[in-house]
Amino acid sequence: MSNPIPVTHTTDADGIGWITFDDPAGRANVFNPATQAALRAAVSALAAQPLKAVIVISAKEKIFIAGADLKWLAALPDVKSATQASRDGQELFDLLANLKVPVVCAIHGACVGGGYELALACSWRIASEARETVIGLPEVGVGVIPGWGGCTRLPRLIGVKGAVEHILKATPLPAAAAHATGLVDELAPAAELKARAKAAALRLAAEGLPRRTAPPETPADFFASQRKTALTRHRGQPARLAVLDAIERGAGLPLAPALDLEAALFGSVAAGEVTKNLIHVFYLKESGKKLTVDAWFPVVVVAAAPKPFRIVGIIGAGIMGTGIAQWCASHGFGVMLCDIDHEAVERGIKIIRGLFKQEEARGRLTPAEAHRMMGGIGITTSLEDFEGCDLVIEAIFENVEAKRKLFAELSTVMSPDCVLASNTSALPIEELATVVKNPGRMVGLHFFNPVGRMPLIELVLGPETTRVTAERSLAFVKALGKTPVLCKSAPGFLVTRVLFFYLNEACRLWEQGVPTDVIDRALREWGWPMGPMRLIDEVGVDVTNFIFGEMAHYFPARFTSTGICRRMLAAGMKGRKNGASTGFYSYTGDQEGPNPALGAFTSNFAQASPGQPATDAKSIQDRLNGVLIEETKRALAEGVIKTPEEADLALLLGAGFPAFRGGLLRQAQSAGQFAS
Ligand code: NAD
Repeated sequence: MSNPIPVTHTTDADGIGWITFDDPAGRANVFNPATQAALRAAVSALAAQPLKAVIVISAKEKIFIAGADLKWLAALPDVKSATQASRDGQELFDLLANLKVPVVCAIHGACVGGGYELALACSWRIASEARETVIGLPEVGVGVIPGWGGCTRLPRLIGVKGAVEHILKATPLPAAAAHATGLVDELAPAAELKARAKAAALRLAAEGLPRRTAPPETPADFFASQRKTALTRHRGQPARLAVLDAIERGAGLPLAPALDLEAALFGSVAAGEVTKNLIHVFYLKESGKKLTVDAWFPVVVVAAAPKPFRIVGIIGAGIMGTGIAQWCASHGFGVMLCDIDHEAVERGIKIIRGLFKQEEARGRLTPAEAHRMMGGIGITTSLEDFEGCDLVIEAIFENVEAKRKLFAELSTVMSPDCVLASNTSALPIEELATVVKNPGRMVGLHFFNPVGRMPLIELVLGPETTRVTAERSLAFVKALGKTPVLCKSAPGFLVTRVLFFYLNEACRLWEQGVPTDVIDRALREWGWPMGPMRLIDEVGVDVTNFIFGEMAHYFPARFTSTGICRRMLAAGMKGRKNGASTGFYSYTGDQEGPNPALGAFTSNFAQASPGQPATDAKSIQDRLNGVLIEETKRALAEGVIKTPEEADLALLLGAGFPAFRGGLLRQAQSAGQFAS
């Protein structure tokens, strides 16, 4: 049983004091007032004893310390209390840093945020090589700066440039990468961590603290270029600028005033609206992990745990099929990939190999792991080889007749309890399920492109999808490490529908004479990562035009397709995918600007659409965001999605809605445009 106190201390026969984190309140150790008080008591007690060294360790299986309790952070009421919270944490870690003996931090499991700031206050950091060990300072992701010494101590350890890059990336590193970056001093197999930490403690006690080499110099224009990026690519996120201020100004100060500066900057951002929004988004994502199908199937008919899928058949080795195959294989599923002929399958395998190489280059997989996972993918041109698959995902091109033909065949070839899924981006599942003998096993699994980077999967339930199918599919999505959102089958589900209403309205604005860059700049200024015209170039003018057609077909009363994409397509312009000057923008090397070739179409439309729309940024933002809000409200009212929170989550993860605004409907609610 866990100790009722979250942090305890002991001493051993060799004169080593041990501080052990093991919060009885849960599976994780987090910093809150109770943990802080317990740590203070432990450090004070050990400080009074004649010891050689102190070791800080966690007794949890997968967590060292997961950082500060976000509920406590979200409740900070004002600048003054936020500044004080920073000071309190700094002073606590100073107690550890000021002990007269070396302090070794033995890290196994997640060591993030305040957990790593504690590690920074120690004299030596040793981390286990286990997969669950991840280390770093992701505070910017929830709108705050590392305020318990992180902005001050990390630059002194690894240099200003490395510290800025790590903190602004807001992504914890696996142990090996943390070691390579200098975040930890030593690695050890998990089973040897305790013994190696003790050996390090005794060595430091005998030989003194290690002499560290001076961190590298900072390039001259480094902060200017970082500020530019923060102001353009990461608008609306004051914590990024605060990190730059804390590190640039703090690096030239002695430790104590640098920590004062850090506390003041933490206070200036931590109690703000952006932090509250980002913490809300964090909890939205967490709720995806706990999602069940209960809201959709109120009557429980199966008590047993859903039978997990083991082998996944994927049909179509194109953009989506290859991405899905790679992701499934890298998450432990056996994969059989099928396409129409050998050449298509070979092309697909080449793409998958490239995806694994990228994972290796990012340090997420070792070459041996990638090789083993790649070996888990079989290829075929015949559905006969799908015997043994318990899930088949169809990812052929978006053609209802071709998909129906395929599902009719699958329905006879596959065993009755094999779940049949379509990755269609817009087609209602029931239109495909009509040809399936047992339509209860049909479901939509809408992955987004690129599969490896997009965290969302819309799990689409047809009218006949059974609870068992839904449960098995949901468990699969979670096993892939993706965030699920459950949708009722309807054209475009949630994300495609809402997004393409928005893109169509942007095209209408363009046709009314508002220039490409004026539209895009307005939306970027609001916080969208890219404007709608640029997004069309990325998605493809051909794909956009096709989906506009589908939307017009399914929503004849409300969706009137604009014409610019059709015209661009007729002129061979498909967007970024086919060359330099073939989208709303022209792309030549680093030069990127509105495509002058589109001038030929402008007058055409201006005549056809009388009346000048307002072109100021706010009017453009209100008009386009207004379309998103209205369509999302409609989908919610129609029961396509159950809750405003799920709608917000889907648009945050599937459409790139800016997280610092907290969610589309949350934002609309605070602006009086939506009442839940
Ligand atoms: P793609 O054109 O890149 O690939 C389709 C593949 O399917 C091709 O390799 C083709 O040879 C193969 N194919 C066609 N008919 C087949 C059959 N009968 N049997 C076996 N293989 C067959 O298409 P994509 O972009 O990967 O899209 C696939 C599906 O995913 C579509 O339904 C699309 O709407 C959906 N989708 C696409 C995206 C995207 O951004 N590309 C995003 C989400 C969903």
